[in-house]
Amino acid sequence: MHLLYSLRGAVWLLVYLLFILAPLFALLAGSHPPSRDFWTELSVAFGYSGLAMMGLQFGLTARFRYVTAPWGEDVIYHFHRQISLIAVGLVVAHPIILVAVQPQLLAPSNMLEAPLTAHFALVSIAAVIVLVVTALWRVTLKIKYETWHLIHVVLAVVAITAGVVHMVGSSFYLVDPWKRSLWIGLTAFWIGLLFYVRIVKPLFMLRQPYRVAEVRKERGDTFTLVMQPDKHRGFRFSPGQFGWLTLWESPFAITAHPFSFSSSAAATDRRVEMTIRNLGDFTSNVHKVPAGQRVYLDGPYGAFTIGNPTDMHVLIAGGIGVTPMMSMIRTLADQEDKRPIVLLYGVQDWESITFREELEELKARLNLTVVYVLSKPPTGWTGETGFINAEILKRYLMPPYADHEYFICGPNVMMDAIEKALGEMNVPMSKYHSERYSFV
Ligand SMILES: Cc1cc2nc3c(=O)[nH]c(=O)nc-3n(C[C@H](O)[C@H](O)[C@H](O)COP(=O)(O)OP(=O)(O)OC[C@H]3O[C@@H](n4cnc5c(N)ncnc54)[C@H](O)[C@@H]3O)c2cc1C
Repeated sequence: MHLLYSLRGAVWLLVYLLFILAPLFALLAGSHPPSRDFWTELSVAFGYSGLAMMGLQFGLTARFRYVTAPWGEDVIYHFHRQISLIAVGLVVAHPIILVAVQPQLLAPSNMLEAPLTAHFALVSIAAVIVLVVTALWRVTLKIKYETWHLIHVVLAVVAITAGVVHMVGSSFYLVDPWKRSLWIGLTAFWIGLLFYVRIVKPLFMLRQPYRVAEVRKERGDTFTLVMQPDKHRGFRFSPGQFGWLTLWESPFAITAHPFSFSSSAAATDRRVEMTIRNLGDFTSNVHKVPAGQRVYLDGPYGAFTIGNPTDMHVLIAGGIGVTPMMSMIRTLADQEDKRPIVLLYGVQDWESITFREELEELKARLNLTVVYVLSKPPTGWTGETGFINAEILKRYLMPPYADHEYFICGPNVMMDAIEKALGEMNVPMSKYHSERYSFV
C-alpha cells in the first residue's frame, strides 16, 4: 500500500511539474521574437512561471480524492501555501526587474501612455499582494474565516484573469497562434477546475444530502452530530478520515468545515458521526441543529488511517484531536481486532474528557490501554499530569519504539512537541502519521 501510494505520489508530482513547466518550454519552440537583454527575458520567464503556478492552485484545492490520497489534505494545503509564496514572488519580481532594467517605465509620461495590458498587469499584481497579505495575516487582521475564504477566491480569479489578459495582450512570446492557443487552453483548464469545484461537485452533493438523526451532548463543550444518508447509500470511509460539512447552507456555499468522522467505519447502518467542539462561530451553533435538518457531506478525505494489523498502534490525542482516534478504536472493536492499542490522551481536566465512559467500556472489547494526561488534574489525581512528552511515552511503550505505528492529532504546538519527542526516540518519520486541525 505504501509503495503504491509512493508511486502514485511520484506520478502526480510529475503531472504537476508537467503542467507548470511544459507551457514554459513550449515558448522556446517555434518562431522567436527578437532577443532582449538577459534581465528582461528573466523577468518575463518569472511572469509566465508565476502565472502557471497560480493557475494550478485551483487544482490543488479542488479536493480530488485520488490525487490527494498519497499525502493527505493538510500536506496539500501546506504545499498550496508554499507554492503560492513562490508564485507570488515570481509574479512580483517580474515588474520589479523590468523597472530596474528600464527605469524610464516609471516616468509619468510613460505611465500615462502605457498600453491597457500594462494596467491589467497592475490589477493582477495588486490582487496577488492583497491575497497574500490576507492569507498570511488573516487572524491578526481579524478577518472572519468565511469572509476571508470568499475574498481569497475572488482575488485569485481577478489575479489570474488579469494576468492572462496582460500576457496574451502583450503577446511578445505568443505570436504563434498555437502558443497563444496553448495558454488560452491552459486558462480554460484552470477555469474548468474552478467550475468543477464550485458548480459540478456541489450539484452532486445536492443530490446526496444527509439528515441529522441526533445531536448528542458529549463531555468538554462538545456535541456529536449523527447523520443518516437521505435516500442514497452514503459513502464508506476509513477510520481516521474526515469530511467537509455544510450545515446551514447549500453545497454551493463557499466555505464548508472539515471534521473527522468519529463513528465506527464498520457501522452497517451507513450513519456517520462527527464530534464537534465549540471553538468559534460555526462550531458554537452545532448544538442548535434540529433532528431532521438537511446537511451536506463531502468526503471521505485524508491519509490518516490505521494500517498493518500486526503493528502496535500508539494513538496520541490532544483535546478534540481524539475524534479520529475514537473512530479507529470503535472500528477495531466492531471488527473484533485484538492488536495492541495505546491511547495517550492529553486533556485539560477530568470532567472534560470527551468519550471517557465509552473508552472505559471499550477496554473490555479490545487490547486497549488508555492513559489520560491532565494539564489541570483534580486533587488526589495519581495519573499522568502536564503534557505528553518523551518520558510519558517511554513509560507506556515497549522498546524498540521504532517498531510501533504512531498516530498524532491535536493542537499544532502539541503535535510539534510529539514529533520532536519521537525523533529523539529514533522513530523514523515513516512510522508516524499526523492530522493537523489547522491548515495554517
Ligand atoms: C482535517 C480536520 C479535521 C478536523 N476535525 C475536527 C473534529 O473532529 N472536531 C472538531 O471539533 N474540530 C475539528 N477540526 C477543526 C474544525 O474544522 C474547526 O475548529 C472549525 O472549522 C472552526 O470553525 P468555527 O467557525 O467554529 O471557528 P472559527 O473561530 O471561525 O475558526 C477557528 C479556526 O479554525 C480554522 N477554520 C475555520 N473554519 C475553517 C474551515 N472552513 N476550513 C478549515 N479551517 C477552518 C481557522 O484556522 C480558524 O482560525 C478539524 C479540522 C481539520 C482541518
